[in-house]
Amino acid sequence: MKIDLRSDTVTKPTKKMLDSMMYTQVGDDVYKEDPTVNALEERLAKMFGKPKALFFPSGTMANQTAIKLHTQPGDQVICDKDAHIYNYEGGGASFNSGVSCKLINGSRGMFTAEQVIEAINPPDFYHSPLTSLVEIENTTNRGGGACWDFEELKKIRTVCNTHNLGFHLDGARIWNALVAKNETAKDYGKVFDTISVCLSKGLGCPIGSVLIGDEAIMENAIRIRKILGGGMRQVGYLAAAGIYALDNNIERLAEDHKKAKEIETVLSKLFFVKKVEPVETNIVIFELQDQLNDSNFLKTLENNNIRISSMGQGKLRIVTHLDYTNDMHNHFLIFLKNMRL
Ligand SMILES: *Cc1c(COP(=O)(O)O)cnc(C)c1O
Repeated sequence: MKIDLRSDTVTKPTKKMLDSMMYTQVGDDVYKEDPTVNALEERLAKMFGKPKALFFPSGTMANQTAIKLHTQPGDQVICDKDAHIYNYEGGGASFNSGVSCKLINGSRGMFTAEQVIEAINPPDFYHSPLTSLVEIENTTNRGGGACWDFEELKKIRTVCNTHNLGFHLDGARIWNALVAKNETAKDYGKVFDTISVCLSKGLGCPIGSVLIGDEAIMENAIRIRKILGGGMRQVGYLAAAGIYALDNNIERLAEDHKKAKEIETVLSKLFFVKKVEPVETNIVIFELQDQLNDSNFLKTLENNNIRISSMGQGKLRIVTHLDYTNDMHNHFLIFLKNMRL
């Protein structure tokens, strides 16, 4: 048995998902003539209570498009020091949009409305970059799958209104937050100008992200997607996987969360584990005792067909997902309990 807990992106489409892809209707999406893509976009727009949605090949391209839509070259984006747009998009914010990031020293990838106010450069002080966008992530990736307090997001919205800033949600794992906190997509649609969501993480699709937003700002999204090379043709085959996932794979995320919680419980009792961050969704971040070597630990796991990932700075990461079965889970928990380093 091979157990891969490096990421929730390692899942493979099921037979049923593949069937739904094979037998869907397609057309040329660059002409906006793919009925399945159109249906997926309409469905997600409606779900978040927004007028517009656009299908993208990746979450990175959806986020990069959002940044471009909200900013002009030279502007500054406020985000957490652990933000995906800052750490994991290849420097795309500066490459594609010519913007810099003002990093907030948040907690588990989250910050307060007061911290946003402090990070805004006064617009009449022309020496500093003009602040034009606030970006947050829910759930937080480097923050260990933590979920934002919705009341804080509403406060940040008010700050954005006062200071005329855009507000973008990187919702790669928004589905996990909605399930964990029992919130609705419409709540998020009310607070954010633009929202990117991933179909290829917890929802188990082979590919696909969608950018959702208000009419005026989304008007130019299709042009930016084209510029970034993301104009696609008969991709209804891929959008069909997304529709299948929205129908079948959202509620079941609670299963992934339960398993992650059980892993947290076992890890926190192990003598060689120094610290486990509180688990809220499907990500478990933990640290080994100081004298222990991470790469030896990872190697021992690999020798036993178990893969997890290192995030650097002594942090190890486990992500539960659709293809992590009950059998694998039982096996992994017993393996951990019996582990001697
Ligand atoms: C995965 C992820 C993305 C998008 O990643 P792609 O691999 O480009 O689809 C964006 N933000 C966060 C927080 C992510 O975890």
